[in-house]
Amino acid sequence: MKTNIAWCFLFGIMVCPSVLHSQNDSIATVRGTISTNDLSLSLTHEHIMSNYGVSMDSTAFYDEKALFEQVVPYLKSLRQQGVRSVFDCTTAYFGRRVDLLEEISKRTDIHIIANTGFYGSANDRYIPQLAYEQPVEEIAQIWTNEFEEGIDGTKIKPGFIKLAFDSGSPSTIDLKLVEAGILTHLETGLTMAIHTGENRDAAQKTLSLLNKHQVSPSAWVWVHANKQEDNEMLFEMARLGTWISLDGVNPSNYKDYVDRLQKFKNDGLLKKVLLSHDGNGFPAGGAIRSFDAITQFLIPELKTEGFTENEIEQLTIENPKKAFTPVIRRSE
Ligand SMILES: [Zn+2]
Repeated sequence: MKTNIAWCFLFGIMVCPSVLHSQNDSIATVRGTISTNDLSLSLTHEHIMSNYGVSMDSTAFYDEKALFEQVVPYLKSLRQQGVRSVFDCTTAYFGRRVDLLEEISKRTDIHIIANTGFYGSANDRYIPQLAYEQPVEEIAQIWTNEFEEGIDGTKIKPGFIKLAFDSGSPSTIDLKLVEAGILTHLETGLTMAIHTGENRDAAQKTLSLLNKHQVSPSAWVWVHANKQEDNEMLFEMARLGTWISLDGVNPSNYKDYVDRLQKFKNDGLLKKVLLSHDGNGFPAGGAIRSFDAITQFLIPELKTEGFTENEIEQLTIENPKKAFTPVIRRSE
């Protein structure tokens, strides 16, 4: 994985690799590698489908006919609204099926970016036994192999790492998985989207682990940061480089998001914010949890409230591209 070190020498000055991207950055999607310039309008935390709530041994199975009938027209409607890319946050062991994602992507012409990693939230019910038994380096190797070889016997590669904390004091296994994520980042350059929510302690521990391995906070997306009400803490993390994912937009709360975005804007931190819905196209076979409030409601409201086209593009196009460009991000 390139680190853009050559560019640093080329200019003869010390330039942080984490902020310097070359013109031909690329990212893996379920239909192959694309230029990060083609990601365009991106939803960075959604679930095309999942089997959250189902017991672990049956999460890989879907009623495929019902899945396609429900999800394909919905994603086509999102595409008409301008969405080009969806980052799918359903991990292995709670319903990731990259073969089905590939088929859905083909039928809808939406880029879908799959993940590697294990999901440490939900009281650890979707963490496989091997994660407890194997050393952290071996777990990182499993995820790195998915990046190098493909997922579940396919040639489909992950475009990011997905991890999660439970609430409360971070458990040994959750921290172990985050450390495995950092080791995977150092091999692959993949960004880590870590379900952290309101958990201040988990955020601090993540920062400590990143420091321990000399990895920049810009390798970390604080997922569900909207649940942390202390804006000052989010600003502080954003200033260190952390990506702040405000990913619970829905038709009844989008005005609150406008207020919050105004605060980030006033602090010059819009450049570190990601937006999404945490929607789900097929939640364990149930009805769609919508993910169109950003295009339907939030973007029009931002325009009404004086956000410029450039600022809206930064939030929906530029920030996702910068956050998820695979590049090893060493701390300075
Ligand atoms: Zn989610």
